[in-house]
Amino acid sequence: MVPTTSGAGPHLGAVLPGCVAALLGRKNPLGLPAARSVIVVVVDGLGASALKSRRGHARTLAGALTSSSVITTGVPTTTAAALTTLMTGEDPGQHGVVGYAVLDEAGDRVVNQLNGWGGSVDPLVWQRRPTIFESGTVRGVAVGAKKYRSSGFTAATLRGGDYRPADEIGERFDVALEAAREAPGTLVYLYIPEADQAAHAEGWQSDRWTAALEEIDGALTAALPRLGKGNALLVTADHGIVDVPGSRHVLIDERRELVDGVRHVGGEPRMLHLYFEPDLPDVERAALLDRWRAAEGERAWVRGRDEAIAEGWFGAAVDAEVAPRIGDILVAARGSVAYYDSRTATVGARAMIGQHGSWTPEETRVPLLRFPA
Ligand SMILES: [Zn+2]
Repeated sequence: MVPTTSGAGPHLGAVLPGCVAALLGRKNPLGLPAARSVIVVVVDGLGASALKSRRGHARTLAGALTSSSVITTGVPTTTAAALTTLMTGEDPGQHGVVGYAVLDEAGDRVVNQLNGWGGSVDPLVWQRRPTIFESGTVRGVAVGAKKYRSSGFTAATLRGGDYRPADEIGERFDVALEAAREAPGTLVYLYIPEADQAAHAEGWQSDRWTAALEEIDGALTAALPRLGKGNALLVTADHGIVDVPGSRHVLIDERRELVDGVRHVGGEPRMLHLYFEPDLPDVERAALLDRWRAAEGERAWVRGRDEAIAEGWFGAAVDAEVAPRIGDILVAARGSVAYYDSRTATVGARAMIGQHGSWTPEETRVPLLRFPA
């Protein structure tokens, strides 16, 4: 089976171009009606299936969830890649943020794409496409926690917008509502990482995740009556979550035949990017890929870089400058497993329950909820 989400409804990358069209009163593939201002709320890690499972705890969100309000996010189903896709309207093969942690070939190192910016990885260069906020067609405002205001990832994905910090979820809605009301033609991005953080710590099936969902639903419910005439609000997500217990961790370094010849292990536990030693002969590269297929082909989608590119994993086209950032071997978990390199994995990384990065429907299918309905 070739993993694909094509034909599975609209894509996350179409959301902001659709909003811009709605602000300009133009028809758009999402069918969004003309709007005065639009608020796009991103609930990090809110998969459509998890929301459905906890619908009794999120009446407003779940009440807007129908079969036509589910869209697909791209792979890797990870925050850095997906939020960059959302904010640029382009696929990872074009914007260049192709995973959670990827190879900077010039620096011969793996760089975390959320918090590892700097040095040779300049957010204004490494993320290669203009953001929607830079397009000049709308007035862009981003609302998020204070600590993200000056981050490299914010510069990579939200440049061109006015960043307004607010630490509490309810306060973020207040700031977003104010921005939407103060001038027509405003596109507001509102970021909520709290549910994702709860899922990583304890899983989406935990009480902590449910509590975070309830808090978000409560803040949304309180905000909607104050949206303002002609304004619209959308709720979407960058990816969903799969809970993986520690007993399902696969330690790749325990099998020498799977790591000999690998110089760097990048990506994340459900979407490994493995980079060869530069001097590894072609015949050994092919043999290493074959060993991965034989060992993990049942419970993971294992692909060589060229195969994955040809199958469209990173979008219709991958720019030559972006290709070396993609693993020579990609290992995308199918089942409830997560791949770790115990030589380098931190205690915190090993303690993570909620995971994502791969192609399963729980990870790729996210809501696109519209308010007013
Ligand atoms: Zn995320």
